[in-house]
Amino acid sequence: MHYFEYKNGELYVEDISVKKLVQEYDTPLYIYSAKTFKRHFKAFDSAFEGLKHLTCYSVKANSNLCILKLLGQLGSGMDIVSGGELFRALKAGIEPKKIVYSGVGKREHEIREALLADILMFNVESEAELIKINKVASEMNKIARVSLRINPNVNPETHPYISTGLEKNKFGIPEDYALEIYKLAHNLSNIEPVGIDCHIGSQLTSISPFLDALDKILDLYLKLLDLGIKIQYLDLGGGLGIQYKEEAPPHPIEFGKALKKRLQNKNITLILEPGRVIAGNAGILVTKVLYTKKAPKKNFIIVDAAMNDLIRPSLYGSYHKIEPVIQSSAQQTIVADVVGPICESGDFLAQDRKLPKLKEGDLLAVFSAGAYGFTMSSQYNSRPRAAEILVDKDKIILARRREVYMDLINLEDNCI
Ligand SMILES: *Cc1c(COP(=O)(O)O)cnc(C)c1O
Repeated sequence: MHYFEYKNGELYVEDISVKKLVQEYDTPLYIYSAKTFKRHFKAFDSAFEGLKHLTCYSVKANSNLCILKLLGQLGSGMDIVSGGELFRALKAGIEPKKIVYSGVGKREHEIREALLADILMFNVESEAELIKINKVASEMNKIARVSLRINPNVNPETHPYISTGLEKNKFGIPEDYALEIYKLAHNLSNIEPVGIDCHIGSQLTSISPFLDALDKILDLYLKLLDLGIKIQYLDLGGGLGIQYKEEAPPHPIEFGKALKKRLQNKNITLILEPGRVIAGNAGILVTKVLYTKKAPKKNFIIVDAAMNDLIRPSLYGSYHKIEPVIQSSAQQTIVADVVGPICESGDFLAQDRKLPKLKEGDLLAVFSAGAYGFTMSSQYNSRPRAAEILVDKDKIILARRREVYMDLINLEDNCI
């Protein structure tokens, strides 16, 4: 469900015409709907009502400050994966006690910053990291609360690049070593093991892999109880999928029900780290047709957005629905690749896509671009990054101004 809708053949975001936004802010342009963000957050969070839980939105999905603030105001915590994301979350006014810190390669200064802020906990991904956190914490005379991220070796049945809970992935601690490392954590002077964590992948379209992982974690939970290590938090990570094309991902309510069944009588707090399911369908990328071109084997629609703006199609072969901002009454269609100006054959937003016949200047909306869109963007080919707009009913917020040429070089002052 989202609030990007056609009214009289013209695409609107909530009460605002997309075409009007483009007249003011140009293309390529990311547009987010506040109402959609709120709806998604509430639908997700309320699915776990009845269980003690904390929803920690995954900042990397969409880390714009306006979005973090909006979610923070709804009571969301945050899952961060870097010192930069901690900085953003704190700037957005998120309570440190609602922040969990994941990632395989935390640097010392990042650990220090998180301890200084007094975040809820670190999700620790290796023995070496645990020892590093203990060292930094002891230097600061602090106790670090930690969960160990377990790699449960469960197949999430998603794209290999976004599978994270398989033995061959770099993430987490293999389940066979978990007990041993908990014992170590328990004995380290400046570590307090308070949770068990796992995150098995992204864009999951079925609940069973989550439940398989949970079963393994609950097993570990009981073994730890026997050892006198009392776990207070179970963190199941993020990963719930969304509809890009014809997927039918489970509704959070279904997920919530299944978890309640297993966790009802346990005295623990459930932590969830949703990213895509909150942000994915709450944003679009609007682009303008620059040229159309007919080659012997293909038609090309060359647009002003490229893989530097939205890398998902190039990186994962992902499908994003693409529709004209102004629907035409003409019935003529073509099959074409929608490509950007970047000098890479991998630079495409869609391949062999059936679209209405288009001409120079037409606007296209690339849907489901709210998660892993802007956050994965770059300046490749020295393309200033797109602007981001947040619409809230009839209110327009410039959430990030469009970069200008000076933004491309202003960190290179030694060379000017
Ligand atoms: C990326 C990530 C998430 C969010 O994943 P989604 O698929 O966007 O819900 C949650 N937790 C961790 C540790 C992650 O790396």
